[in-house]
Amino acid sequence: MLAHRLIERKRDGGKLDSGEWRALVMAYAAGHVPDYQMSAFLMACFIRGLDRAETAALTDAMLNSGVRFDLASLNKPRLDKHSIGGVGDKVSLVLAPLVSSLGVAVPMVSGRGLGHTGGTLDKLESIPGFRTDLSMADARRQLEAIGCALMGQTSEVVPADRKMYALRDATATVEAIPLIASSIMSKKLAEDLTGLVIDIKRGSGAFLTSFDREIALANEMIHLGDMHGCPVVALCTAMDRPLGRACGNALEVEEAIAALKGEGPDDLMEVTLALSAEMLLMAGVVSDRETALAALREAITSGRAADQFRRIIESQGGNPDVLDDPALLPQAVECELYTAPRSGIVQRVEPRAIGRGIISLGGGRSTMTDTIDPSVGFVITAKPGDWVDAGEPLASVYARDRPGIERGRSVLRGAVIIGDEAEPPLPLVSHRVTKAGVEELSRA
Ligand code: URA
Repeated sequence: MLAHRLIERKRDGGKLDSGEWRALVMAYAAGHVPDYQMSAFLMACFIRGLDRAETAALTDAMLNSGVRFDLASLNKPRLDKHSIGGVGDKVSLVLAPLVSSLGVAVPMVSGRGLGHTGGTLDKLESIPGFRTDLSMADARRQLEAIGCALMGQTSEVVPADRKMYALRDATATVEAIPLIASSIMSKKLAEDLTGLVIDIKRGSGAFLTSFDREIALANEMIHLGDMHGCPVVALCTAMDRPLGRACGNALEVEEAIAALKGEGPDDLMEVTLALSAEMLLMAGVVSDRETALAALREAITSGRAADQFRRIIESQGGNPDVLDDPALLPQAVECELYTAPRSGIVQRVEPRAIGRGIISLGGGRSTMTDTIDPSVGFVITAKPGDWVDAGEPLASVYARDRPGIERGRSVLRGAVIIGDEAEPPLPLVSHRVTKAGVEELSRA
């Protein structure tokens, strides 16, 4: 009866109080509300929206559906970074070892690929032996020992979101700001953080494609963090083209390893350093951005950041030798260059088409139960604004067979657009959003 009454109220534009949110979420998590009723309720939420008080109540209800880390005894600042999802976005793989090598604990709960975007867990699992299914006790031990744990959401952490998120994914109710904000923040608040940095992706490959909606999402998460004593800062970064060159799970791990050794592509480094510097500033281990950037660069050139990734991989059961020999990562059976069909200026490299292309090669999921081939994907060296001559190499396709190579070539033909005039790309890091407002860092 409870669910029926609440669906009816939401359908008609009414509000639930915090007790009703708690009762509904707990009943659903316990299996007392069936999926069909929760689906109808979520669609009513999607269409009618939630106000700030309801979003906060939903976040609390989900947060309280599971256990939370208590990490105060680490006696260190505890920071995490969350990205709203992108293509070629391997920032977490570089940032987590980098920041945790500088005295900041990074308890990072990540997700799998979603839609056209890749997921940190899938990337990490392409390292032979690497386990992301850490229990809370394992994660805690690892945080105490080495200051970083890279894990997936377990049945202990925010189980209500786990169930509701899968349902939203199947019922076209993902793209609602209050639902996204409460889903992400319930997981992040369960990590017992002292600060959170959010990477809001902008552009055609972003999850939400309107800038106003992205800022609204950032503000909602900042507000939820504030209510729980967890300061949140968001940076808006470009996702109108893939980040870095590698797109595909094992290929991205290889590029992240290169980045930790100081050989990463410039765009990947700029975004990673900007987000990492925010974390160091929030952690209070540095007093200004210049000092933060200098410390981060030193951690890379000294080998400290790469050594930290080695320790993380070893501690989570993976083969740490991948750091010295990336050929130990899964290798695609077939690889072929893709060359420019004409001379001209690269106008666009469409991230959505590339992300969907990885799925079509077997490197991503169409349904949550699909298994993925970590070896496949693209390495795209052409960037918007580059002049290219006909026949010049623009990218490589990595596939498991010849039909895969042909599919990959056709994806690149549609995704890498060459024309006569440049189309200016978005600035890599364009805005900083805090409780105090939106600061423009560079103009589009
Ligand atoms: N990621 C999440 O964890 N939840 C959402 O709702 C959307 C993206």
